Amino acid sequence: MNIPVQQLPSGGYGYGFSDIKVSPMSFLQITQYLEGLPEDDKLEKYLYEINNLISEDKRILDCYLMDVDFLIFFKKLITISGDSTVVVKIPCPKCGKIVDKKISLDHDIHFRQIDQSVMEGSFIELGGNKYETIVPTVKSFFKVFEKYLKYRKIEDLDIIKTIALVKDFDIKGNQIEDDILGATHGDITLIKALQELYTNRLEPVEVICPNCGTNEETGERSGFMVDVTSLTMDFFRDIRINCPIDGTKIVFKQARQG
Ligand SMILES: [Zn+2]
Repeated sequence: MNIPVQQLPSGGYGYGFSDIKVSPMSFLQITQYLEGLPEDDKLEKYLYEINNLISEDKRILDCYLMDVDFLIFFKKLITISGDSTVVVKIPCPKCGKIVDKKISLDHDIHFRQIDQSVMEGSFIELGGNKYETIVPTVKSFFKVFEKYLKYRKIEDLDIIKTIALVKDFDIKGNQIEDDILGATHGDITLIKALQELYTNRLEPVEVICPNCGTNEETGERSGFMVDVTSLTMDFFRDIRINCPIDGTKIVFKQARQG
């Protein structure tokens, strides 16, 4: 299926094409995906997820990383369910109960609106050095990511994504890295603000636990917030839950008499 770029977290600002192709994975594709998934290596896993999207549409390379983070989640969601709602199982952080939460793409998934001026980039000062920020596409992120995939100096994906926000990594990579890793006080606030602006555009979803979600005195309901993109999806289990078969799909042969 084709997603209009206006419906992506970036709002499609600056794209040279109008839609991007993302389809549900077939049985064979899920099987192959699970076989190849590098479970224990967060960086390799992220590369694998992006390459999974690129295999369907090469223009993913020109998409903003913030959009691709959403598309990784979106592809899983449409693989699991045919009607853009999906039931996921989330442990309650208070009592540990596994809560079933129905997530609807139309009602629960919201992006924080992005301002066009934000998409133009900005000037910042970090560690006493002046920098320009960019909104990284997959292509420009890969230039930064390759270095960390190879040398493993940093294995935290959020930090690598933050480093990719600063222009001229190819020229001043070490200095940028030092200024981000060594940031103190106000510089930390600045880095956090940049992360807020350019990554994680998806609003968290509220989940209410049936055990401890209701305050007994006031009757008030309060839940906990989850970042839906971080939810682990177990494809075959989740497909079974979300797409149950009815009695017409399998008709058993009658046992022969006598
Ligand atoms: Zn609970």
